[in-house]
Amino acid sequence: MPNSPLILSGKEVSLAVKSDLKNRILELKEKGIAPGLTAVLVGEDPASQVYVRSKERQSAKLGFNSNVLRLDKGTSQAELLDVVKQLNDDPSVHGILVQLPLPKHIDSQLIIESIDPAKDVDGFHPVSVGKLVLDLDGFVSCTPAGILEIMKFYKIETAGKHVVVVGRSNIVGKPMANLMIQKKDLGNATVTLVHTRTPDMGLHTRQADILIAAAGVPEFITADMVRDGAVVIDVGINRVEDDSTEKGYRLVGDVDFSAVSKKCAAITPVPGGVGPMTIAMLLSNTVKSAENSLN
Ligand code: NAD
Repeated sequence: MPNSPLILSGKEVSLAVKSDLKNRILELKEKGIAPGLTAVLVGEDPASQVYVRSKERQSAKLGFNSNVLRLDKGTSQAELLDVVKQLNDDPSVHGILVQLPLPKHIDSQLIIESIDPAKDVDGFHPVSVGKLVLDLDGFVSCTPAGILEIMKFYKIETAGKHVVVVGRSNIVGKPMANLMIQKKDLGNATVTLVHTRTPDMGLHTRQADILIAAAGVPEFITADMVRDGAVVIDVGINRVEDDSTEKGYRLVGDVDFSAVSKKCAAITPVPGGVGPMTIAMLLSNTVKSAENSLN
């Protein structure tokens, strides 16, 4: 009998998160504060433009003081550092997002480290990453934070489970693995992290109670790599050519959804899964920063 898994709708969870934020934003308004989020976009990377536009639209809808600084692709590193410094010094800005990837002539890590950790709503600054690892209060990188919210919403238990994370990026794989080992309810898991140098990846992924795929390779998690009844979180957002669509491409995840969904217990779709959560958590981190600014 074909399996019909629980579809973990990030779209739905993101609406719940944003609805909760509304009350906190109203409370801030009563104290004369609108959460201020400024995104800095250097150059014209199409995917970055889509992401920044969506962020701008959603934050404006919630009553944020939202700005996008669109800088020419030839902007120098010194100029960008200066822009970040001005934003660090501006009390109306609670969150600074420098959209990655940056042009090659700019050292991304240097720019990330120039952001005031109190405004690091992306959670990429070493101070934020350190706090995450030590389980101290700070800004958690938005995509892993969004995955935690999905787990909370759908009551997915992680304690005592084997979580396998595919990919070791600084923004998804590493923080996700660290969150899952924390000594807390949404944590307490046994974690395996696999990457490009892992031989026989399927050997590990097949043992996962919860499989989190964040490699950026279209549909490479096939049904034979997934255990029956696993929970599958697909972080990947990949464009694959498709002449039958108006845009000439479609979005797919890292997981072969049609085959894997026949054997897993629950799965996030692409689009509509982890994607909407990333922006929701960015907004949430900015509200938190605005609240922190009152203290
Ligand atoms: P990245 O390229 O920085 O990192 C990918 C990681 O996967 C690397 O550590 C690499 O070692 C590993 N990897 C690559 N190919 C592999 C393979 N064949 N086998 C095992 N490991 C492999 O990417 P990222 O920023 O972590 O993003 C991963 C994917 O998630 C991308 O598709 C990206 O677009 C997507 N993403 C989605 C969201 C969202 O909001 N849903 C947010 C961030 C990233």
